[in-house]
Amino acid sequence: MSVKLQDLNLCANDKRGKNQLGIGTGLVGWDEVTQGTVLTSFEGDATDIVSKKAEERAYSDFNSYTATVASWRVIKPVFNRDICIDCQNCWVWCPDTSIISRDKQMLGIDYDHCKGCEVCSEVCPTNPKSLLMFNEHEDLEVALSKWPEKKKKEKK
Ligand code: SF4
Ligand code: SF4
Repeated sequence: MSVKLQDLNLCANDKRGKNQLGIGTGLVGWDEVTQGTVLTSFEGDATDIVSKKAEERAYSDFNSYTATVASWRVIKPVFNRDICIDCQNCWVWCPDTSIISRDKQMLGIDYDHCKGCEVCSEVCPTNPKSLLMFNEHEDLEVALSKWPEKKKKEKK
């Protein structure tokens, strides 16, 4: 299907993960945007963009930051603040920059972009882990209530 740029019905707002590229009732993939169209990541002058925090940047409607791109995730990481030691391992290793950390404090998961790859849970060093994978539809409070106990070292 060929789509003209002016036909794209963009639902613009400034909230992360709320935009959806759509035309009529269907969704428009990146491969359907008119060839040769310049898609800018930010609105206006982006010269100083690296010095701004992610949530302070003026994203354009075409930036994936403003779109939900995690609809096919089947398992999700759940974060347990009570156990986390803020080592930042998960933040470093997440391949999708979906760990939200500010001032070296782990704050949580960006579920609009997380793909459920499990890397963050694998690299979490605490006992028990501070990030565990659950079914996508598991309620967060229920997941936290199922958290395992600390494993004791076996005596030799
Ligand atoms: S599951 Fe994968 S994509 Fe999601 S936060 Fe963890 S490392 Fe990142
Ligand atoms: S890897 Fe685990 S302990 Fe380290 S910051 Fe992430 S959740 Fe916290």
